[in-house]
Amino acid sequence: LEPLYFSGRKSKWFRPVNLNQLLYLKSKYPYAKLVSGNTEVGIETKFKKLRYNVQIFVGDIPELKTCEFKDDGLLIGANVSLSKFQEILQDALGHYELHQTQIFKSLLENLRWFAGNQIRNVATPAGNIVTGSPISDLNPIFLSSKTLFSLSSLEPSSMVATNRVISSESFWTGYRQNCCEETEILEKIFIPCSKQGQYNRAYKQAKRRDDDIAIVNAGLSVLLDDNNQVKEAAFAFGGMSWVTVRAPESEHYVLGKKWGDQNVLKGLLEKLCEEFRMKFSTPGGMATYRKSLVVGFMYKFWYDVSKSAN
Ligand code: FAD
Repeated sequence: LEPLYFSGRKSKWFRPVNLNQLLYLKSKYPYAKLVSGNTEVGIETKFKKLRYNVQIFVGDIPELKTCEFKDDGLLIGANVSLSKFQEILQDALGHYELHQTQIFKSLLENLRWFAGNQIRNVATPAGNIVTGSPISDLNPIFLSSKTLFSLSSLEPSSMVATNRVISSESFWTGYRQNCCEETEILEKIFIPCSKQGQYNRAYKQAKRRDDDIAIVNAGLSVLLDDNNQVKEAAFAFGGMSWVTVRAPESEHYVLGKKWGDQNVLKGLLEKLCEEFRMKFSTPGGMATYRKSLVVGFMYKFWYDVSKSAN
């Protein structure tokens, strides 16, 4: 493949074919819009009338499409297509031990209901993560599994490539905002294997079962010891705020308590209701329904885990 460049009176379009070319272009044009599957950018330009005068297509860069099965997790290039991502996750189920695959299974579950085949064939995890939609179907799972994002750029003085790794817990900073600097790109995603005793599940409620965005979705994770006591908890929800959020008070409440004890379940559901107070006038509406979905997902998770842990 050859790099391509087209320019018009007002716009420039680049197609780099390796990571160095991309990082160089991003250092030269920090405001340039990266375009991958174009399923978010296309909506922005066509329906929201946003203009991006410099665009860099990142869909032909091999370094952004890699996949490695590491001892402790999956390291994937951020711009693999979602269809390819499904294949990689499916392969990972055969590669790792059963208890290590909880997070991969959650991702597969949500990818099954993510848009349709046409979109999944071009859309990418990077596009989803960087957009940071509050109803992203992947971000709750990344958040509940402490997935890591690796960002790359060129050091301005030396023009040498540098890299920093950010936890999903500190990546999103506001409505469709993140901590990526203008010259940085998302290069790789590290999805950890689940530990022995860890349970991770994904849930999504949409108006239609197929090809629809979520009203509320969730990535829920607990780590239990041999007595079913909770050692770690991470509850992430989409559709409940301006960004995918965790439920720290509910997570804290359940720590050290016994999974399976009905009083704990009751207390946990009450805590969630307290934590997700949503005004009737909230953007997106359906406040009562959305709160009841949060409780419903937790209820389902409780019994899913109880069944598997016994
Ligand atoms: P693009 O549109 O190419 O890019 C999106 C953003 O990511 C841009 O800001 C771009 O600059 C940036 N970007 C891309 N790659 C990089 C990189 N390597 N480094 C830094 N920035 C980068 N989303 C869901 O969560 N669930 C759904 O069910 C769902 N259904 C959809 C159905 C339809 C019909 C459509 C049109 C969209 C749907 N989406 C859904 C939203 C969208 O498909 C996803 O967010 C998708 O993952 C975006 O990926 P992309 O490659 O197309 O992103």
